[in-house]
Amino acid sequence: MRSPLSPSTPLVLVTALALAAAAVGMFLASRPSIPEKQPDVRVRADRVILISLDTLRQDHMSLYGYPRPTTPNLDAFAAKSTVFTNAMSQAPYTLPSHMTMMTGMHPLSHNVRYHQDRLAENYVTIAERLQSTGFKTAGFTDGGFLESRHGFDAGFDVYDDKAQPGWVANNGFRRRSQQLKDWIFQRQRDRFFLFFHTFDCHAPYVTDDDAKAALAGTTAVVPEGARAFPDPIARLKKFRIHDYMKLDQYASIDELIDAYDATIRFVDQRLGELLTTLETLGLLDTALVIITSDHGESFLDHGVYAGHGLTLYEEEVRVPLIVKFPGGRFAGVRNADVVRLIDLYPTICAACEIDTPIQVEGIDLEDALLDRDTEPRVALGESPNFADHKSEGMDGVTNYVRRENLKYIDGCKIGVQALMDGHLGRVAPGEPYYDLKNDPLGMKAIVSTKPQLFDLTNDPHERVDLAAQQQELIERIRPRLTMQWDAALAIREVVTQGMKPAEIEDTIEMLEQLVQQGYISVADFERRKQVLEMRKFQEELDRKEREKKKDAEAPAPAESGSKR
Ligand SMILES: [Zn+2]
Repeated sequence: MRSPLSPSTPLVLVTALALAAAAVGMFLASRPSIPEKQPDVRVRADRVILISLDTLRQDHMSLYGYPRPTTPNLDAFAAKSTVFTNAMSQAPYTLPSHMTMMTGMHPLSHNVRYHQDRLAENYVTIAERLQSTGFKTAGFTDGGFLESRHGFDAGFDVYDDKAQPGWVANNGFRRRSQQLKDWIFQRQRDRFFLFFHTFDCHAPYVTDDDAKAALAGTTAVVPEGARAFPDPIARLKKFRIHDYMKLDQYASIDELIDAYDATIRFVDQRLGELLTTLETLGLLDTALVIITSDHGESFLDHGVYAGHGLTLYEEEVRVPLIVKFPGGRFAGVRNADVVRLIDLYPTICAACEIDTPIQVEGIDLEDALLDRDTEPRVALGESPNFADHKSEGMDGVTNYVRRENLKYIDGCKIGVQALMDGHLGRVAPGEPYYDLKNDPLGMKAIVSTKPQLFDLTNDPHERVDLAAQQQELIERIRPRLTMQWDAALAIREVVTQGMKPAEIEDTIEMLEQLVQQGYISVADFERRKQVLEMRKFQEELDRKEREKKKDAEAPAPAESGSKR
């Protein structure tokens, strides 16, 4: 059984949290206060629906101004809900980002960042918190990084994480629409928490004919960074940083983006049907509905790759966030404050009128809407994929900090290390850097080994690095970032009481899935598979050895005349 923190711990934790708050404090003058729409009276949420549409890039949704009609249902739903335009993810890939949604904590604090990590027992997930107050809970996912083995099933009465055999992404809504409706129908009289996650927008993009037809006559928006190359698709095919993108089927980057946009249109259609079901059953009015994503998707925006998981630019870490509060509160509001995925947990607790566990690092979104934040929220995130392995704190992990429209991205440590060791190299002049010793196949491009600074007001696509002109500011940010991560480690220590979480053992099936999703390279897969096979072989040898020993120790059978 998990339990919240013991009464003896909060003081240490409060100190750690205060340290964290101080660390992320002002590094710019305070923002002007923006009056928001006056709220109506809070209505308690008796149903919570959290939907994570994996890999949904915010600026490819018509809801956020994309010129193609990719999200007509969400565009309509916006009239009933609140649209956050600067919601930030805490990591550009599935596992840590979803665990952040579940725990309200930064990846470094919940410590589920690598594929063998499992959430330690002492954390209290949002499903556990709601279940303990009488909510019926169910989670439906396409599996992969959201499987139970990472601890995602904690607190769910039902957690269906079965991936379709021969996993090819893109089948969540196709497989689950009816299942979701059935579950809602069965539970319509209960207080419930429903979590749904789908890889429908994740590559390889599986397009639906109707969705494709709906976008016909409109054109894909190709990022400026990609347009800088004479033949962007040829470049992507040359580097093949993510094999799972299945790039050979596309003759141009426009075709690739067409396919991606069509997956968004398909998801929007199915989402619309789900919302209609809730409305028809009369459940929508008192429900808290949160629709978001774990990260975005890059299309050579910064000259690196198509896909996600490595860089911390806005195309990967700014996510859609649409929240429908119970009783029509904040309906039709668009809020531009920087908010974070860590804020979902306390928002759910506040809407349900239950306490938020003290270790949760986020803040209720209502505070932003009511202009109750005393300071702007600071979004922090990390790209664990750049780390050597199990890096702690600032060491080896690339971080970003965003406060209002100022965005800082840390220099990539592995790049610095590779540079110092003399094996940082380029495959060709003008190409990205690779750590050629640890990554001889050039699977993980190193974007920058220097800190970068961007002013998103004048430069929303992070094209102009201001770091060189703003050294003093960078020197003020860096120690605060270090303090923040120290605080996160302190929080983790207190929550886990120093206990190391159990690691998940590799299985061939799990490794195969990671390759398909593009999270490990084929070379890495082969190496780990070999280790597993060697281990199995050794276990078999040991077993035989033990049997031999047992036979030798057993008393010799009595002589009999039956020997032939
Ligand atoms: Zn994801």
